[in-house]
Order: sequence, then structure tokens, then C-alpha cells
Amino acid sequence: MKRIYLDHNATVPTTEEHLLEVSKKIAEGAANPSSPHGLGRNASVLISSARKQVASLVDFDVAELVFTSGASEANNMGTAGVLRFKRSASPLHAITSAVEHPSIREPLEFLRRTQGLELTVLEVDGFGRFRTEDVISNIRPNTALIALMAANNEVGTVEPVREVGEWLHMRRWQKWPRTSGLDVAPHAFDALVASDVTPEHLQSLHFHVDGVQAAGKLPKQEWLSLGFDSVSLSAHKLGGLSGIGALALRRGRKFEPLIFGGAQEKNRRGGTENLVGIVSFGIVAHKASQTQWWTEIKKVEELRDALKQRLSRFSALRLTTPSAKSLPNTLNYVVEGVRSEDLLMQLDLSGICASSGSACSSGANLPSKILLAMGYSENDAKNALRITLGPENCDSDVDALEQTLTQIFAH
Ligand code: PLP
Repeated sequence: MKRIYLDHNATVPTTEEHLLEVSKKIAEGAANPSSPHGLGRNASVLISSARKQVASLVDFDVAELVFTSGASEANNMGTAGVLRFKRSASPLHAITSAVEHPSIREPLEFLRRTQGLELTVLEVDGFGRFRTEDVISNIRPNTALIALMAANNEVGTVEPVREVGEWLHMRRWQKWPRTSGLDVAPHAFDALVASDVTPEHLQSLHFHVDGVQAAGKLPKQEWLSLGFDSVSLSAHKLGGLSGIGALALRRGRKFEPLIFGGAQEKNRRGGTENLVGIVSFGIVAHKASQTQWWTEIKKVEELRDALKQRLSRFSALRLTTPSAKSLPNTLNYVVEGVRSEDLLMQLDLSGICASSGSACSSGANLPSKILLAMGYSENDAKNALRITLGPENCDSDVDALEQTLTQIFAH
């Protein structure tokens, strides 16, 4: 049976071509990058080249990139790691949102429970979007961290992190950022900041952005900002191997390592490097910088629009993804009349791989925290259908999905 894969926000499957490319590079001869011999040096060269390619995904410098076991680890570094480094006698404050990935939400909740962290969790609107105004007006003199995602993995909403970053950069350094493309000029938010919050304070607080779903799906100018202090990234969302990610960390910014025991990654993450994973990440990051990649993303977006149009005839499907400012490949629905577990099983039996939301919460039929935060009922939040497209999808996949749904809803 031909499989139709519509779950790209969970993982973009690795192709045989990619695996061959990775193995060819490794097979040329590479060993432990810390070893003082030729094969060690070869490994070191491979890592340096991948570091450059991954750093350029987010316009950071090579020295600013720390390889990790994935974006979950990078998010833990960018939240708990940063706060542990900033420890102080009086309680610190952090700002996050109600739609974050668990790898942001849970370390912060843990520090709130165990270390007295003051935590502000921003509410979102009906499309899962927090407001720049709320981020800014919640900054206090003891705010040490703002941790927010650039785009949501379940509903595909693009969040206003760029607007927050541009405002922060301007207020920190009194420099005017490139404002083109922003709906609102950054200085429009100035009146919202508390009067006891100084530029020095804004310079010292850390703005961490979860860039996992935005990198390689949104053009850089639509989400990146010089105001970001760190960005988390993951290779398997781009067609690379799973188990490899990175934290891009602005020069001068510090965090307390989560893994001690080796000088790797400039003492920021101990342990022999995942050479195979790093090489894979470098290859996909390089691909994501090519024009061809963005031509394919455009095609994905067109296919998404066609699919959206076709699925609009099913009264049992309620679209939760916003029509503007959303990821080019994502459609999320609340399903009525059929339990999403049953729907996904029937789709699977027809060879169609879709999901009910984030990979971490699907399988357990728990309500989606994202949909709950968006104001959906518990029943609705348990009945989501997420379709996330990739470059290998084509018109016939859309036909097959429509036909299968027609059969399912007819019963
Ligand atoms: N952040 C977001 C928004 C994600 O979608 C994911 C993966 O689902 C992660 C973080 C975690 O990435 P990784 O699987 O590399 O740990």
C-alpha cells in the first residue's frame, strides 16, 4: 500500500538520498573530533562546516552555535539553563505563553514549583496568538527571561516574536531596527513598558525563541530579529536525522550547562559530539538556504490552499488555523461527530499518516493544551486533526485524503 505522509510538523522523514549523503561524508574517514590525529581532525572539519551551515539558518555566527540532542534540550538550555546561570537571592520572573511546547513550559513550571520562579503565562486569542503588547507590559524589573515560540506546531500560527525582538533591540540599544514588514513600528509599544524598567535591565534580560517550526518554513525576514538572545532548532523538522538540534546563543549570553563532563562545544555541552547527526543537520540546513528549497515551500503552500478549499465542504471539520500569518504547510481542524482517535485509525488503515496534534501528546488522547488555551472545549480539544504537508506531497494525495474523508463521514 502506498503511504501518504501528512505529518511533517512531527518529523520530515529522512530520504534514502539524504542518508547516502551523510554516510558518504562519514565514510570518507572520521573519528572522535577531540582525537589528536588525522581522522579526529577530519571529524572536526565536518563539524565546523555543519556548524557554519546551521548557524546561517538563523543568521548567527559560527561561534554562537551549540549542538544538542534536539530542540527539547536546546529549549531547556534557553530557559532553565539561562535562569540557573542568573540565580539571585530574590525571586526572578519569567514570561512565557500558554501555547508553548512542553520543552519550554515544563522547565519553567519546574522552576516555579521548586525555586520560587515568578511565572507569567500569557493568554492567547482564538487562533493561539499572544500579543506583543502583553509581552511588553508584563516586563518587570526582576524579569530575567522571555521564552516564546516563533510558530506553533499544532495549529501553525505565526507568533509576533519578531515584533517583540525588534522592540527589545530598539529599546536596549536605542538603535532603529529594520521595521519593514512589521504591522506596527516598534516605538508604538514604548508607552506600555513599566516606568521602573530601564534599558540596562532590558539588556540583561534574556529573550529565548523556539524556532523549531519557523526555521526553513518561513523566510528569515518574517520571523528573525537581532533582539533574540537564543534560538532553538531541530534537524528532524527539516528532513535531517532525529536526535540532533542546536541552540544558537548570542555572543556574551550565558547559561548553566545541563551536561557537564567534557570540554566539547566550548564547555557548554559535555559529551562526544553526535557526528552523524551533526553532518545530517549541516546538509539539510544548507539545503534550506537554497532557492530551490523556497520554490518547494511555495508549492507546499499552494497545495495547502487547495486542500483547505477541498476540505471546506466537510461540515464535520472546523478549521482552527488562522488564514493569515500561519505556517505554509499546516491545517488543523476540530472534528465533529467522529472521535479523532477513530478518524486517525481509519486514515491510517487507508495508508494516510496524519496526527491529532503534537507528537508528544497524541496517543494518550489528552485534550490539546493549545486548543484549550484558544478557548475550545475539552471535547473539541480531544478531537483534533492536524494535516502538515511536505514537498513530496502532490495533488493525488489531496484527492486521496478527500476521498477517504468522504467515506469516513458517510458512515
Ligand atoms: N519545539 C517545537 C515547537 C516543536 O514542534 C518540537 C518538536 O515537536 C520541539 C520543540 C522539540 O524538538 P525535538 O524533537 O528536536 O526535541
